[in-house]
Amino acid sequence: MAIDVEKAKARLAAIRSELENLSSVSAEMRAPVELDQNSVGRLSRMDAMQQQAMAQATERKRAHDLVRIEMAERRIAEDEYGYCEECGDEIPDGRLAIDPMAERCVGCASA
Ligand SMILES: [Zn+2]
Repeated sequence: MAIDVEKAKARLAAIRSELENLSSVSAEMRAPVELDQNSVGRLSRMDAMQQQAMAQATERKRAHDLVRIEMAERRIAEDEYGYCEECGDEIPDGRLAIDPMAERCVGCASA
């Protein structure tokens, strides 16, 4: 087998713990915006809402990435990890180093 399964698992685990760390840090930022006009001016309230929207978008991406990690781990378990799901070719390790959850080779991903 061309794929180093232990290396792949380690990469996925590193990304997962990074995502989990970030998630706990930003939980506070995603909290509902305080709408009390007296405590926050209109501009800073808009800033806060914008910041909250960004934090929520980041959190959605994070949740999506966690799903991709689980899917990659399933592919590892089924010996399908590292093969393009479109064409079946091996995904080069250089690509997997950058995106360990990659499902497709560069050619198919950009097609
Ligand atoms: Zn492909």
